[in-house]
Amino acid sequence: MEKVIIIGTGCAGWTAAIYTGRANLSPLVLAGDQLGGQLTTTTEVENYPGFPQGIMGPELMMHMQEQATKFGARVEYKKVTSVEKNGSTFNVTCGEGQYETETVIVATGADPRHLGIDGEEKLIGHGLTSCATCDGAFYRDVPVAVIGGGDSACEEATFLTKFASKVYLIHRRDELRASKIMADRALSNEKIEPVWDSQVTEYLTDDGEMRAVKVSNLKTNDETEIELKCVFVAIGHVPNAQFLEGLVETDENGYIVQKPSCTKTNVEGLFAAGDVADHVYRQAITAAGDGCRAALEAERYLADNE
Ligand code: NAP
Repeated sequence: MEKVIIIGTGCAGWTAAIYTGRANLSPLVLAGDQLGGQLTTTTEVENYPGFPQGIMGPELMMHMQEQATKFGARVEYKKVTSVEKNGSTFNVTCGEGQYETETVIVATGADPRHLGIDGEEKLIGHGLTSCATCDGAFYRDVPVAVIGGGDSACEEATFLTKFASKVYLIHRRDELRASKIMADRALSNEKIEPVWDSQVTEYLTDDGEMRAVKVSNLKTNDETEIELKCVFVAIGHVPNAQFLEGLVETDENGYIVQKPSCTKTNVEGLFAAGDVADHVYRQAITAAGDGCRAALEAERYLADNE
């Protein structure tokens, strides 16, 4: 019987592992097929406190893992396929194997949606990203584009006008899905140029870096090229909570619902931390903070149930 199983190895998962490790709970971290975390696919991280010169995303994740294992966290590369409540404990199933545990911390994150264009994966961190807060400041005085028409796209486009010389807002329809206030703010910003009824069909590169996008107008079928240095894709995220279907309450977009001001869920003993429960902030530091809260709450839950 494990005390704590942590599912996921992003900032939330490792932070939960550091805290539960230091609480002598010997957490078991289930990492899936490979170590996760959106920072493993980014380049430089400039906004994580404590690194004034910035730090490479994968390096930061390695430090977190080292810190967690130093305090007794054990890591297994197994992908969780389901979690069931069994009285006051949980059965965590990984394919053919199964673990029993008193508490579960779910920190499986959310995957940004991408367009599915050829060569996309290689371009991530080289002019293709899903996070304006993380990467916007790298693109000063150059043109960039945001793809999408929701609140995220409008928020990111408006934020990017602080740095970029011009922000193309490429949307597949002729009206935005975003709330009126966010849409108005974006459309009234003179640095933002909407590109309506348009779909990006190709990313064009120069020496492995983004150089331009090929855009097709869905009404006229006209094709144009837009020169730019970075594309910010804001077409939504997919929270990785499908394996908990039927057990945990999720919202209409699939994010796990946390109880107010904590990481508790509707299932006693199961806590959710980081992007799998957060569609608003989605930052490394907020995910880490959530991992800390989940660990402290799991520790208290175990003490109360002793
Ligand atoms: P969203 O509301 O689902 O919008 C996604 C956008 O991407 C839509 O405009 C959609 O186009 C477009 N899209 C989806 N798939 C596409 C594809 N394959 N190709 C091209 N375009 C595609 O997602 P979101 O903007 O990330 O927002 C998610 C939730 O977070 C929402 O509830 C939002 O209100 C909330 N949010 C709130 C704030 C805030 O209040 N500060 C900020 C960000 C997000 P269509 O419009 O044609 O469907």
